[in-house]
Amino acid sequence: MSNCIFCKIVNGELPSAKVFENDDILAFMDISQITKGHTLVIPKIHNEDIFEMDEETAEKLFSVVPKIAQAIKEEFGAKGMNLLNNNGAFAGQEVFHYHMHLIPRYDENDGFS
Ligand code: 5GP
Ligand code: ZN
Repeated sequence: MSNCIFCKIVNGELPSAKVFENDDILAFMDISQITKGHTLVIPKIHNEDIFEMDEETAEKLFSVVPKIAQAIKEEFGAKGMNLLNNNGAFAGQEVFHYHMHLIPRYDENDGFS
């Protein structure tokens, strides 16, 4: 998708702070950190949302999410983590290239509720 900002991050047209990358998946820091270490994990292939995603892509995504979550938890000293994903404008999605949010949690005043 030529006008998709996350496709541009995948192909290097836009910069990002990369956390993890393999042939199919990229993880990078969210530009607007809800909590310290807020990370987005995306399939490199352009799927707008979960409703477009096929099983193979889902398997590739979820096969690496646990180790990315563990690495972020350790790096930032988080106590827990919320994993969430908005699908569709009515669900709060703003960037229409599938992404999973990894939101590290620290304490009751960490800024996310
Ligand atoms: P959504 O509301 O679609 O689930 O979340 C979109 C997320 O993408 C937001 O948390 C927003 O801060 C993040 N974001 C938007 N543009 C960029 C960008 O250019 N670079 C990075 N790293 N994150 C972005
Ligand atoms: Zn895209």
